Formats: sequence, C-alpha cells, structure tokens
Amino acid sequence: MSKGKKVVITGVPGVGKTTVIDASMEALKAEGVAYTSINFGTCMFEVGCDQGIVNDRDEMRKLDQDVQRELQKTAAKVIARITDNTIIDTHCTVSTPAGYLAGLPSWVLEELKPDIIVLVETDEDQILKRRLSDTSRSRDMEGYVAIKDHQRYNRYMAASYSMLTGCTVKIVRNLDFLLENAVSEMVELLR
Ligand code: AMP
Ligand code: MG
Repeated sequence: MSKGKKVVITGVPGVGKTTVIDASMEALKAEGVAYTSINFGTCMFEVGCDQGIVNDRDEMRKLDQDVQRELQKTAAKVIARITDNTIIDTHCTVSTPAGYLAGLPSWVLEELKPDIIVLVETDEDQILKRRLSDTSRSRDMEGYVAIKDHQRYNRYMAASYSMLTGCTVKIVRNLDFLLENAVSEMVELLR
C-alpha cells in the first residue's frame, strides 16, 4: 500500500488556516483529488474532554505544559493511523503563558512524518483585525509586534522541523480579499 501525502498546515491564530484548507479541499475535490483533513486541536480537545480536563478548545493552551504535551502526544498517535492523503491543521508553535510551545516536537514529527509543512501567513494588521471580528473563538488579544514575533518564530521552528524530517517548507500568504491566490498555491502543492 502506498503512503499518502502528509501535509501539515500551520499559521498563527486568526490567519485563516481553516478557511484556506476548506476552500482548497473544495477545489481539489473538483479535480478529483481526495484529501482527508484533520484538525489537530480538535483531536486534542476530544481527548481532553474524555479525560474531563477541558471545556473549551481555547483553554487548552493555558493548561499545564505537561498536560498539553500529553494531549499532543495522544493526538499525534491517533492522526498517525490515517494512511490517506492527509492535511493536518495545526500550529508550528502555541503561545502559552510559559512561552512558545513547539507544536511539532520530535515525537510528534516521528508520528506524523510530514512531507510538507505549510506556513500560512499574512500582514500582522490583517490578523489583528480578523481576531477582533471573530466572536466564535477566544483569541489572544495581542498587538502588532507580538503577532509579528510569533510569525517570525514560526518560520524558525519550521526550519528546524525541516532539518529533523527532510520535509519541505512552503509559505502561503493569505492576504485580505486574495483568498483565491492562497487556494491556487495550495492546490498546486497538493495535487
Ligand atoms: P486551533 O483551532 O487550530 O486554533 O487549535 C486549538 C488549540 O489546539 C490551540 O490553541 C492549541 O491549544 C491546540 N493545538 C493545536 N495544535 C497543537 C499542537 N500541534 N501542539 C499543541 N497544541 C496544539
Ligand atoms: Mg482553525
């Protein structure tokens, strides 16, 4: 059985990862290319709910570091069982009260074995605006500089993940009113 393509999609909260993924999946479906999309945070959240330790997905990043890592490890093992072409919606790093937590430490990379890591990025002012207008989530209220730092740090981390696994790193910009450009880059990458 041939192994499916594993593509990890990352980006700071509010950059529009899920929007880009959903639109790309639609476009790929029209071309007859099938991908399974899985949200890493949802997987962690389901495990945390079963254990009775979380009630809200946006609370997870405030949990004790060890607890977050345990949830992360379990989620990675669950996701590793999927053998299809897979899109994994996750984070390069998670901003926690104790600092940046690696979203893909070595034990997660060993499970997921990604072929490509995508960094979805946009201008910091656009992220700030998107976070303010999203009432469905409790997003961190950060300023322009903090968001810029986080995006920069994510690039460094993607480089180290690439060194550990041999995966490629692709930066896709999801600019305001230009979702179709992000989608066509994604389709090119995934087809
Ligand atoms: P999201 O819906 O993608 O913003 O993810 C919700 C939450 O899931 C994040 O705020 C993190 O707490 C957690 N999460 C997602 N991916 C990871 C990961 N790779 N490692 C650790 N926590 C993660
Ligand atoms: Mg999302």
